[in-house]
Amino acid sequence: MAKRVVFLGPPSSGKGTQAKRLALRLGVPAISTGEMLRAAVAAGNELGRRVEGVMAQGHLVDDALMAEVVTARLHESDARQGFLLDGYPRTAPQASTLQAILEATEAQLDHVLLVEAPIEILVQRTLGRNEGRQDDTEEIVRERLRVYAELTAPLVDHYESQGLLRRIDGNQPMDVVERQIAAAVEG
Ligand code: ADP
Repeated sequence: MAKRVVFLGPPSSGKGTQAKRLALRLGVPAISTGEMLRAAVAAGNELGRRVEGVMAQGHLVDDALMAEVVTARLHESDARQGFLLDGYPRTAPQASTLQAILEATEAQLDHVLLVEAPIEILVQRTLGRNEGRQDDTEEIVRERLRVYAELTAPLVDHYESQGLLRRIDGNQPMDVVERQIAAAVEG
């Protein structure tokens, strides 16, 4: 069964929720780089201090720093048998870093799940969610969507050409999305 899965998709597509659900099903850790960074900011540690400003603007943390964060996390013992990545890779250089990490252990990605929804639905969902996040003004939400379209969306073609991409309609009830994802990784 599939054990190494990347979730791709714009902010508020629901991929975080779905990554956690699929992780339980597969018995592998769900690794959210956004959550890791927010935890670092909350802890006020060195990483948190370095990323706080960039995150608040809706921009991406630089690739070299993300490479350190993700390499360390994927080398932890719980990720050895598999993992779900939510929020990484987000740029072409990050996809290369992930590829290098996997090759070093002769591992491969099993699936890349693209969870999509129309842009106005994404904006409304983000503004409507009540997590107390400070980066959720409409201006910042639109900036994050713009950054996604510019830097992350190109990864869709990259993974499609490798035959790894599975497209999931995120504009459906969460349980329906969950079933379609389960079918995609099992089928
Ligand atoms: P979203 O709520 O947009 O899905 P995440 O929770 O995944 O976002 O990430 C929140 C923020 O953390 C991003 O806007 C970005 O600043 C930073 N971040 C998370 N993952 C990455 C990454 N792979 N590369 C660069 N920055 C990242």
